[in-house]
Amino acid sequence: MKRSFLIKPVLDEMYPVIDYGKGVYLFDMDGKKYLDAASGAVTANIGHGVPEIMDAMNEQAKKVSFVYRSQFTSEAAERLAEKIAELTPGDLNWSFFVNSGSEATETAMKMAIQYWQEKGIHTKTKVLSRWVSYHGITLGALSMSGHTGRRARFVPLLEDFPVINPPYCYRCPYKLEAPSCQYACARELETAINRIGADKIAAFIAEPIIGAAGGAIAPPDEYFKVIKQICEANNILFIADEVMTGSFRTGKMLACEHWDITPDIVTLGKGMGAGYAPIAAAVASEKVMKPILAGTKQVMSGHTLSANPQSCAIALAVLEFIEKNKIMSQVESKGNYLRDQLEKLKEQFLFIGDIRGKGLMLGIEFVADSSGKKPYPRQALITQKMVSLAKEKGLIVYPAGSGIDGVNGDSIMIAPPLTITEKEIDELIVLLNETFTSFANDSG
Ligand code: PLP
Repeated sequence: MKRSFLIKPVLDEMYPVIDYGKGVYLFDMDGKKYLDAASGAVTANIGHGVPEIMDAMNEQAKKVSFVYRSQFTSEAAERLAEKIAELTPGDLNWSFFVNSGSEATETAMKMAIQYWQEKGIHTKTKVLSRWVSYHGITLGALSMSGHTGRRARFVPLLEDFPVINPPYCYRCPYKLEAPSCQYACARELETAINRIGADKIAAFIAEPIIGAAGGAIAPPDEYFKVIKQICEANNILFIADEVMTGSFRTGKMLACEHWDITPDIVTLGKGMGAGYAPIAAAVASEKVMKPILAGTKQVMSGHTLSANPQSCAIALAVLEFIEKNKIMSQVESKGNYLRDQLEKLKEQFLFIGDIRGKGLMLGIEFVADSSGKKPYPRQALITQKMVSLAKEKGLIVYPAGSGIDGVNGDSIMIAPPLTITEKEIDELIVLLNETFTSFANDSG
């Protein structure tokens, strides 16, 4: 068999060839079954092989699969935009559809810069961000990403947009605790703005819960209120990157809603197409769109396949499936159930340092010494070992960095499809327990 160039093994092992998926499971060509506790890359939000999505795919294909965004829109794109406007808070009414999370954050960045230009301000071109963050792999998105591992090779091509620490309470750089810390890490934004100059800054971007770079690091309750106040006081737009946290991953359409925050621009991706189609979006508020509509009249971004009717019909079917089956209202209780089981594993295995996250986006950080929170040395490759051991057992977990600097430290995320049942969570925990037992035995 010829192998796809995408299948470059990480640990000298050939990737299994998947035959089919059903619900929370994937089956490879050798008949091995995997419980997908990572939803791939926190993407397959409604599980695999959902017939309603295949029907929607078929129906749209019978109508039209492609129209070019500079000439036409489609019923599917318009209905999807309407649905997103209905489900998101505030007046986030304008969806710009693209094909990946990186395109979405990069579009959001360009929208923010364009917003100020339309108002006659041409100096505001920086989009500040945090260390221990991931906003995508294209150069604009990577410029905003504070993921040192992924930046490393391309640093000469990147802007220095990450400027502040993340709200990583487990290893607070100030050795403080919320709320008595008064959100010192959020207030770093004010210091950075004063240093750089608000007249140069278009926006600040953040993931509501830090995913790939940190392993589900959720902020303390008032954190984003402080961030939003600082942005408003300094005439800086706030972009919430909800590529991973949005689309009901934490129980609400946007994770920002947990803290009553409405961003000026929000990005969606991953769970939006739930793996059935490559689709993502930068969704802008009326405030952002008003000067653009009064000025150039178009967002200065776009791709050939933006707002692809087929992808839009699929994303709409995903949202309708979630609504019809009231999946969002089950995320909190399923998340709590899963978290309780993970806490029990933490009591059993001393190398589990922290359990964190929200809804069905949970993280586990590993430590060499749980009382001192000492991380394993980087070369021990603990995350990769855990992922590999789990895969051997038939369990897929998501490899994430830890909040130390995105390179050192180890964590994984457990983020199964939102459709997972309690019985399947029990099975997940059995497989995770076996994984941790093997790790404990291997490391003597
Ligand atoms: N933003 C966030 C928060 C992400 O987690 C990711 C991917 O992990 C991206 C953007 C980039 O998305 P994509 O890989 O679809 O380009």
